[in-house]
Amino acid sequence: MTSYVTLLKESGLKATFQRLHIVEVVDRYGHIGIEGIYDKVTKIHPSLSVATIYKNIIIMVEKGVLVEVPIAGKKSKYELSKLDHMHLICTQCGEVEDLPCIESIDKIFDSLMQKEHFKLFRQQINLYGVCSHCQQLSCQPVD
Ligand SMILES: [Zn+2]
Ligand SMILES: [Zn+2]
Repeated sequence: MTSYVTLLKESGLKATFQRLHIVEVVDRYGHIGIEGIYDKVTKIHPSLSVATIYKNIIIMVEKGVLVEVPIAGKKSKYELSKLDHMHLICTQCGEVEDLPCIESIDKIFDSLMQKEHFKLFRQQINLYGVCSHCQQLSCQPVD
């Protein structure tokens, strides 16, 4: 919990109980949507509204504590800011898997940015497709 307090304070935010619990839930689940966060957080704070939780998430995204991960055709999920990595996003179940950036991809970005004279701060590489679990499911006959 103390590291979450530090994280919030270093980002210029007050470490309120709501925010601490939201950050804790997001950290525990890796990638989670608003409804999921609401479900978990209201178990501890039943009086919190979706609007309040949403407002806090937006502030924490603005301050760089959380990162929004867009899911094609579904609601966004959120994760803690961490080292640049890639996402494998299943468009059927919405599952998000983290993959570390590989060196060859970083090199491609480097040369591309040099060519474009663009100074890159952050990147989010989202690859959309169907996860192995959903592929198996779709192979089964539907009765
Ligand atoms: Zn899937
Ligand atoms: Zn991620």
